[in-house]
Amino acid sequence: MREYMENDKDTVKKIVCNQCGKSLQVENGIVKEGVFRGVARWGFFSEKDGEIHDFDLCETCYDRMAGSFRIPVEKEEQTELL
Ligand SMILES: [Zn+2]
Repeated sequence: MREYMENDKDTVKKIVCNQCGKSLQVENGIVKEGVFRGVARWGFFSEKDGEIHDFDLCETCYDRMAGSFRIPVEKEEQTELL
């Protein structure tokens, strides 16, 4: 989950891993460690029609989740790092 600055809703103030509750390091709106943000926009054919689900996972919890997949994640190298 994310909290944004009261006076600047585009600048993130705090990110907490939804799985384990760890606070991730954020400095001046920039996340200083690995984070996975999941956003699911559930549509008409789901049972959550119209809901948007938004969560964050720290890198450890991401690795645990992805490691449980029957089919591994697809990996490729980024040409530009943000
Ligand atoms: Zn975590």
